[in-house]
Amino acid sequence: MADLPSLLSRNRDAVALVGTLADLEVFPRSFTTLGDSILFMGRQGRARQLGLLTSTDSATISGFDLEYHPVSLDGVALSLGLGDLSPRNAAALRAAVAFTESTCLGLSKSVGLGDRLGIATPGHIRALRRTQSNMRPILAQQSIREMERTARTPQQVIDAATWGVLQEGWTEGYGSDADHLKTREDIDACAAVGFKLYTLDPREYVDNTADSSDMGTLMHKIEKLPWGRLETTFLSLLATYVGKRQDLGANVQLVPTDQQIARAACKYGRAIAFLVEAYRYLVVTLGQRPFEVEISIDETDTPTKPVEHLFIASELRRLGVRWVSLAPRYVGRFEKGVDYIGDLTAFEADFAQHAAIARALGPYKLSLHSGSDKFSIYPIAARLAGELVHLKTAGTSYLEALRAVARTDSALFREILAFAAAHYEQDRASYHVSAQLARMLNPDTLSDEQLVTALDQFDTRQALHVTFGTVLTAKNADGSYRFRDQLYDVLACNEEVHYAALETHLARHLQPFAPTIGFPPTRG
Ligand code: ZN
Repeated sequence: MADLPSLLSRNRDAVALVGTLADLEVFPRSFTTLGDSILFMGRQGRARQLGLLTSTDSATISGFDLEYHPVSLDGVALSLGLGDLSPRNAAALRAAVAFTESTCLGLSKSVGLGDRLGIATPGHIRALRRTQSNMRPILAQQSIREMERTARTPQQVIDAATWGVLQEGWTEGYGSDADHLKTREDIDACAAVGFKLYTLDPREYVDNTADSSDMGTLMHKIEKLPWGRLETTFLSLLATYVGKRQDLGANVQLVPTDQQIARAACKYGRAIAFLVEAYRYLVVTLGQRPFEVEISIDETDTPTKPVEHLFIASELRRLGVRWVSLAPRYVGRFEKGVDYIGDLTAFEADFAQHAAIARALGPYKLSLHSGSDKFSIYPIAARLAGELVHLKTAGTSYLEALRAVARTDSALFREILAFAAAHYEQDRASYHVSAQLARMLNPDTLSDEQLVTALDQFDTRQALHVTFGTVLTAKNADGSYRFRDQLYDVLACNEEVHYAALETHLARHLQPFAPTIGFPPTRG
């Protein structure tokens, strides 16, 4: 039996050779040895295929759905299998090639690289390579809301990362984040396809009025909290926390008052009950399968005070919840697609307290949600959290896809820009944005060369950011997609432009967290 890997290694350009046999333009980094077979991915025009070149009887390569043809290489008879990038082939690939399956990342410093279109992973991997980042990537990350708005399924999100990882030959491992889960149905849908990180979002149970309620109202609300589910009483909480000095290191001390605990219990009591139940449901649902949890309380109306963070983390721990990262809502504004808006000194002071709590009560990572484009705070977060940080991005990669469109198909980009302006007021409702329609750039006044600058103008950028779902799902009268198919088409025809835009932009996110760069202290 021929030893295929060594047979190929004798040929100077094995990639081109296999490409000729398969009649595909093979992605060079996708070449993967599997026993005495070679797996690869290639494209022919816009179509992509999985290939398997083998000297083994094809029947022994289990799981893949490939069509086999006899081929010959240097006079050796081989079998070449080709098939679509189907869910079945993605599942077979994950079973056969360990690095294509997502893993738990634990407490490793990490970055979430959300990919709403499902074609950005190669660009994300190139950004990681360019910066020699030691952040471990989450390459499959989408919230239920994003999946609804992009008309994508949890399976598609997982499979897109699988194929991107093979295409680029990323053997370093990656995570998968089922983001912002709010119900058991959300958990079921994501558990069924093998996500590893489950981000639990109790936003609907947070009482945002607790910050401003008078004590009478607070006490009335506290009486009605689900104490049975919380497995405690208000008196017991007071006894546990009030007046107890908490030394959290890094010169951070907290001494909760009865008022603070009353407000924290009122604001987050139901949220904690939800989180405990969701966590226990996950434990039962996942059984022996590996998984990990992020707690996200970032999407609330008011910032998470350090004493509230302390209270939530302590109560969740008491109730048996375990997590690797937690996203408080920090001070200042984390608007979509733009830099941090607020006082950097205030952010630093706030972040330092949250970081101390996360180290003392975990350790667990502090997660930065809406982390896209927050360039001014990355150095602060990197310095104060050290390795215990998770940066979560998503929308910014969609905007880089639009940048590639602006560069390669100005007519399509102009249409999307006009459409975004028409839908911004409606679509902004569920997002933290302050862009004003009147300040958006008018595509009619921009030359083709200027078009790409629209992506860097605050108001236009935010409008493009929040209208992604409407753009991707808009339909014509005949039921066909208005932009979706054309957008994917343009990006497939110009994939190197797309990857280059992603690589450049995401590298700017990763660089401040790179270990080789020393940050001069900004204060003191
Ligand atoms: Zn979030």
